[in-house]
Amino acid sequence: MTMPTKAKIFEHWMDWLDKRGFDWGEPYCWACKRDLDDKYDLNKPNATREEIIKNWGRAPLQRCHIIARQFGGEDTPDNLFLMCMSCHDLRRESCRYRQRVEPYKH
Ligand SMILES: [Zn+2]
Repeated sequence: MTMPTKAKIFEHWMDWLDKRGFDWGEPYCWACKRDLDDKYDLNKPNATREEIIKNWGRAPLQRCHIIARQFGGEDTPDNLFLMCMSCHDLRRESCRYRQRVEPYKH
C-alpha cells in the first residue's frame, strides 16, 4: 500500500479539524498546533475546498502514523496525522509521543 498524499490526509480530517475550530486557511502542526510560516497561509477568504486541500498539500508538514506500522497501523488517511518536523523527530515510535497523539484521535 502506498502512503496517501498530505492533501488526501487533510481531506480525510478536515471536518474533524473544523469541529475543533481550526482554521483551514492556515496550515499548522496537528500535534503541537504550531503555526507554520505565514507564507503558507492561504489568505483567500473565498477559497474553494480544492484550493484549501491543495494548499495543505504544499505545506512543509510530515506524514506520521498514529498507530505505528510495527503495531499494525496502516497507510490509510485515518491512521496518518500531519506534523511539523520537530514533532516528527520527537516521535520516532516512542511511547511518550503516542500518549500525546492519542487524545486527538476521533
Ligand atoms: Zn509540531
